[in-house]
Amino acid sequence: MAKKQSDHRFVYYDPNMERATEQRIEMTHALRKAYADEALCVWYQPQIDLANREVIGLEALLRWPQADGSMIGPDVFIPVAEYSGLIIELGEWVLNQACLMLKRLEHAGHRNLRIAVNVSMPQFRQTEFPAQVARHLKYHGVNPQQIELEITESVIMDEPDTVVNVLRKLKTLGVQIALDDFGTGFSSLNYLRQLPLDRIKVDRSFVQALDRPSGAIIAETIVRLGQRLKLHTIAEGIETERQELLMRAMNCAEAQGFLYAKPLPADELMAFLAKCPKP
Ligand code: C2E
Ligand code: MG
Ligand code: MG
Ligand code: MG
Repeated sequence: MAKKQSDHRFVYYDPNMERATEQRIEMTHALRKAYADEALCVWYQPQIDLANREVIGLEALLRWPQADGSMIGPDVFIPVAEYSGLIIELGEWVLNQACLMLKRLEHAGHRNLRIAVNVSMPQFRQTEFPAQVARHLKYHGVNPQQIELEITESVIMDEPDTVVNVLRKLKTLGVQIALDDFGTGFSSLNYLRQLPLDRIKVDRSFVQALDRPSGAIIAETIVRLGQRLKLHTIAEGIETERQELLMRAMNCAEAQGFLYAKPLPADELMAFLAKCPKP
């Protein structure tokens, strides 16, 4: 028996598929419950200026703590949340948390940090998404420049025209837009030119391959492309001094990675920032 998938490819029936569907439904219920119980949390990973290692921003990353103290990572539950549409509520909640965090940072004297929030396709598809973002910014009295929305190439190529339109509306609000995991998808360079982007994020896979010619060439090409398009570039997943050195030599201006800090719970982040020099 052939089953039709949403992307119009046909796959042959596999008994494991039913089990996978069951697991997905179970996880959706558990995730919805965790959200309702306010059990989810947002951790923040610092982003730094490669010239001086000062913290210039943070990326908000969802976490799902389990009763046994372990953590289910977003790579596992975000696809489930996207499939079920739950990501629409979760994403709005993360944005709200990011706005609250900006206020907390401001009170602690960190006035110029930006917070990047990941946005999924189902959120973009809602026509009210830009209005929703505007409402949160206004409610919290947040400077729009301090919010960055991260989208991936797959989001763009899914429905390029919708995304270009939505991004243009978002830009009029004053928020920043970053293209996440750049180089791992199939974005057409033509769209890259049309999109109102502020920043591209060099994917961790290229940073990790910097010691191989292929990795170094790709990373350098992405950084150059960013420069030519007058975009900021940030290297993801910097873990070693050597990777930092190589990215800095390419004139990549910003970085994020375990070398500087892992994603941190809110209180740990505040303690981390208190020890950092303020830009
Ligand atoms: P991403 O947006 O590309 O986020 C960066 C991921 O790289 C994070 O994984 C971060 O912990 C990890 N990372 C950062 N530096 C290093 C490093 O030096 N080494 C290694 N090995 N990893 C590093 P995380 O938190 O597990 O998130 C995975 C993905 O889940 C994110 O990838 C993003 O696509 C998605 N995600 C997370 N939170 C949200 C959210 O609130 N909404 C949506 N739509 N997606 C989210
Ligand atoms: Mg991201
Ligand atoms: Mg990324
Ligand atoms: Mg990713």
